[in-house]
Amino acid sequence: MKKILVTGGAGYIGSHTVVELVEAGYEPIIIDNFSNTEERSLQGIADILGREVICHRIDCTDAAALRQVFEQETGIAGVIHFAAYKAVGESVAEPLKYYHNNVGSLVALLQVMEEFKVDKLVFSSSCTVYGIPAELPVTEQTPVQKANSPYGNTKKICEEILTDLATSGSDIHTIALRYFNPIGAHPSAKIGELPLGVPNNLVPFITQTAAGIRQELTIFGDDYDTQDGTCIRDYVHVVDLAKAHVVAIDRLLSGKADNIEFFNVGTGTGNTVLEAVQAFERATGEKLNYKIGPRRPGDVPKIYADVTKATEELGFKTTSTLEEAMKSAWDWQMHLQNTSEQV
Ligand code: UDP
Repeated sequence: MKKILVTGGAGYIGSHTVVELVEAGYEPIIIDNFSNTEERSLQGIADILGREVICHRIDCTDAAALRQVFEQETGIAGVIHFAAYKAVGESVAEPLKYYHNNVGSLVALLQVMEEFKVDKLVFSSSCTVYGIPAELPVTEQTPVQKANSPYGNTKKICEEILTDLATSGSDIHTIALRYFNPIGAHPSAKIGELPLGVPNNLVPFITQTAAGIRQELTIFGDDYDTQDGTCIRDYVHVVDLAKAHVVAIDRLLSGKADNIEFFNVGTGTGNTVLEAVQAFERATGEKLNYKIGPRRPGDVPKIYADVTKATEELGFKTTSTLEEAMKSAWDWQMHLQNTSEQV
C-alpha cells in the first residue's frame, strides 16, 4: 500500500480524506498538532475503519520534526497538505500568526520533501483566491485577485510559491484544489467538523442553533443582488471533497499531471443562505430560529464553481445533494450532543 502523508489529517477535511484514502487502498500517515481539532477525530477514524491510523503529533512549521517523520516513515509516495489556520476574522487580527503557520508550514514541508525526494503534493487551496469574481461560474482561468484577508492572502501566496517551484524545474508536482464551501459529515456520523467556540461558518452555526446551543442564526444581509437577497455559495459535501483528494493523488502517482495544476472543487451549483436554511429544515424536519442582520464585512456576494476541468481531468463527481449534506451535518451534531458536552 502506498503511503500518503496527510498534514492536518485529524482536522475536518483531513479526517474525511484519511478515511477515503484507506478505502481507496492507500496507507495514510497523519501529521497534526491538534491546534484546531481533538483526539476524538482519530477515534472516529478508527471506529469507521476498524483500525487505527498512525498519527505524528508535530507542528508542520517545524522542519526538524518533519524530517524525523520522513526518516521514520520510509517510502512516502505523496503528501496532502491540509495543515493551516482558517479563520478569516482571526487572520485580520493576527496576520503574523497566519503567515507564519500557513506559509511557513508549506515552505518547511517543500524543503523536506525535496530532501527526501518525495515529489507529489496535493495542496488545500480555496475559492477565496478569486476574490469577488466579475463572472460566474468561476473557472480555473478566472483571474486570481487581491485577497481581502490575510487568510486568503496565505492561500494566494502558497499558490504562488508552488507555481515558482514548478517553474524552477523542481521535481515536485503539485495539484492545488480550490475548495468552495465544504459542509456535512461522514455518513457514519463518527467524524465531522469540530468548531472551536462560536462557529464562524454557516452550517455549524445552523446545526448548533437547531440543537439549542445558539439562540438564533443571523443571516448576514438580504439586500444582495441575488434571487432572495442573501449571498450565494457552492456548498460541497465534505465526503465528495475528500474523494477529490484521492483522485488527485491517483493522477499525480500515474505521472499524468503537469508540474502544477489547479482544480475547482465544488458542485457547480450556487445556493443562497436562505436556500441552505430551507434545505436544512427540509432534510431534518427541524425549524430554524433565524433573523436577518446586516451584511458581514468582506463577504463575497456570490460565487460558485465551474467544475468541468475537475470532472474531465480528475474524474471528479459529486454524489450528495444539499439536503443530504445538511442531514449528515445534523446527524453529526446529534452524535456530538450524545457523546460530550458542547458549549
Ligand atoms: N453566513 C450567515 N450567518 C452566519 C454565518 C455565515 O449568514 O452566521 C453566511 C455568510 O454571509 C455567507 C455564507 O453564510 O454568505 C457562508 O459563510 P461561511 O462563513 O460558512 O463561508 P464563506 O464566507 O467562507 O463562504
